[in-house]
Amino acid sequence: TPDSVSPTIRPINKGVVYRICAGQVILDLSSAVKELVENSLDAGATSIEIALKEYGEEHFQVIDNGCGISPNNFKVLALKHHTSKLSDFPDLQSLTTFGFRGEALSSLCALGDLTVETRTKNETVATHLTFDRSGLLVGEKKTARQIGTTVTVKKLFSSLPVRSKEFHHNIRKEYGKLITLLNSYALIAKGVRLVCTNTTGRNVKSVVLKTQGSGSLKDNIITVFGMSTFTCLEPVIVHMADGCTVDGFLSKAGYGSGRNLGDRQFFFVNGRPVDLPKVSKLVNELYRGANSRQYPIAIMNFTIPTGACDVNVTPDKRKIFFSDEGIILLSLREALEKIYSPNYASYSVNKFD
Ligand code: ADP
Ligand code: MG
Repeated sequence: TPDSVSPTIRPINKGVVYRICAGQVILDLSSAVKELVENSLDAGATSIEIALKEYGEEHFQVIDNGCGISPNNFKVLALKHHTSKLSDFPDLQSLTTFGFRGEALSSLCALGDLTVETRTKNETVATHLTFDRSGLLVGEKKTARQIGTTVTVKKLFSSLPVRSKEFHHNIRKEYGKLITLLNSYALIAKGVRLVCTNTTGRNVKSVVLKTQGSGSLKDNIITVFGMSTFTCLEPVIVHMADGCTVDGFLSKAGYGSGRNLGDRQFFFVNGRPVDLPKVSKLVNELYRGANSRQYPIAIMNFTIPTGACDVNVTPDKRKIFFSDEGIILLSLREALEKIYSPNYASYSVNKFD
């Protein structure tokens, strides 16, 4: 009402701000692990192990053989917006790393208990680091380790009661989503060995995913889905306007995956796993014309010259906008219509070795 006293504007308690913002970068188990895996890839790792305890509910660890973190960086490592990857906004145009905002480690501190063990080639011993909720370094001790980094997050979301309850309730679903995400890295990463293990009960450890770090998409598909699945796929290469291309594999008309929609559809832009709902919709629509009983498997990597796409969209970086989306979708439609027309002569898969 006009005569009621205008309430005072006050700053929100800093701890609350941290938790709210962190909750937008780290939405669930898979986005948490995604950030750590991407950090390992950015650190040049050729071997990455994801170790889960109780499907990630107790803790998860990402262990890499990357460059490690130099002691000069320990204090600022988990502070918000501290990054070694970007200094100026215009750098986003020439982005070659997965990370760039310096938000993942600070968010994980706000949401769970974060520890880091790391060693660079200049050190003879590793250091074990502990951080508080705001990302401040609170503990530092020497330990033994090979060159590389291990990041451990215990009790994710314990600082957000509602999210925490939801997390425990949906753990199997979250775990399933995580495995799909790890599959997407296993498909696209070339020359990187990926292993995922899950330990349950009294130390019963099982290997959930294991790749050899081969050099081609074809080999990666065979590792992740098996040879029999691979033989049901058709290679696609489409050259589009402005130097954009898409290459990958799609189900042949008679051999869809028959599973739920999107179960085995993986889209990448310049090697970065992303959600492309419009592309997925288009692929499904055209496939339906050739096979109405199943959904297609789709593994497609778009190569888009820098400047023609924007990755700085959502905090989790899963949404990408193409500047020429209309043209891209149209060229894709034309190419797929050919592939799924009844008289299409299949390529020999071996041509694409
Ligand atoms: P960003 O990846 O956007 O820079 P993060 O919060 O994910 O932000 O990481 C902060 C910084 O910590 C990185 O810029 C990098 O220097 C360092 N870092 C994180 N994880 C690793 C790792 N596994 N190996 C080496 N350095 C790492
Ligand atoms: Mg990062």
